[in-house]
Amino acid sequence: MEQNRIQQKQIPMTDEMKEKKSSSLLTIEVSGLALQAKKDVAPKIEVKDLNFFYGAKQALFDISLSLPERQVTALIGPSGCGKSTFLRTLDRMDKFVPGTRLEGEAWMNGEDIYDPAVDPIELRKRIRMVFQRPNPFPVSIFENVAYGLHLQKSSRRSIHDRVEECLRGAALWDEVKDRLNASAVGLSGGQQQRLCIARAIASRPDVILMDEPASALDPIATLRVEELITQLSQDYTIVLVTHNMQQAARVSHYTGFFLQGKLIELATTAELFEHPRNQETEDYVGGRFG
Ligand code: ADP
Repeated sequence: MEQNRIQQKQIPMTDEMKEKKSSSLLTIEVSGLALQAKKDVAPKIEVKDLNFFYGAKQALFDISLSLPERQVTALIGPSGCGKSTFLRTLDRMDKFVPGTRLEGEAWMNGEDIYDPAVDPIELRKRIRMVFQRPNPFPVSIFENVAYGLHLQKSSRRSIHDRVEECLRGAALWDEVKDRLNASAVGLSGGQQQRLCIARAIASRPDVILMDEPASALDPIATLRVEELITQLSQDYTIVLVTHNMQQAARVSHYTGFFLQGKLIELATTAELFEHPRNQETEDYVGGRFG
């Protein structure tokens, strides 16, 4: 598929736009990564004409989009609109959940990852998922990260170095370096989530998918995970499902708005919140329905 460049356009605010904005029930302030969206970035993943079914029920309709490389793309929309379903199509949920069916194309590094010939287990090393509830294995902190590295038959020294690198990369090393052999389930919820992120980056993935990664955490732990997402976006392409629009406006470069299984609009986060092109997007980000 042609690697289209993702264009960022800055649209000046007209008086009409200003008036509409002032009539919003909710004002979302964009900050952080939202102010740093890169223009003209090559897509890491391109999805074309994706449809997804749970049995006879269609959950996603004709989704086509590009996910820019080393940028965070947030997916927002009301509960049940298909955000998680979309995320899980990228790690081939259809191969693991009986009764589901997927149609369409998704290109990454020149390969259609929906091709039946693609090994979904191998794919899951390149596209890693972080879930809403942290799910560490009931083994030591060290083994949680080393797990996949043993499978790669790495030496003990290199496994140790890589575990340290991943724990540093997940902003957890200083908190756990003196108790690497302690059980991971003894960590706080926020630490467990950062451990799951360390485990996710251990296989050197191209893409990290995050399904409401902070929604089970307290505000301080949420902030740390948001800081971590910001830091990881320098090296990874990240897709972040969030029900929290403020979070999307803080920690994403691009935002996609889903409604009833359709992608209504995808734009830079600043554009989507400040100058939505679609009336439904405008109503949603303005808090008129949810
Ligand atoms: P969101 O993440 O935006 O809340 P979901 O992707 O979870 O939305 O759900 C999209 C639609 O698919 C909803 O109508 C939901 O009820 C349906 N759905 C989700 N998971 C399943 C499942 N395992 N079986 C059948 N329907 C499902």
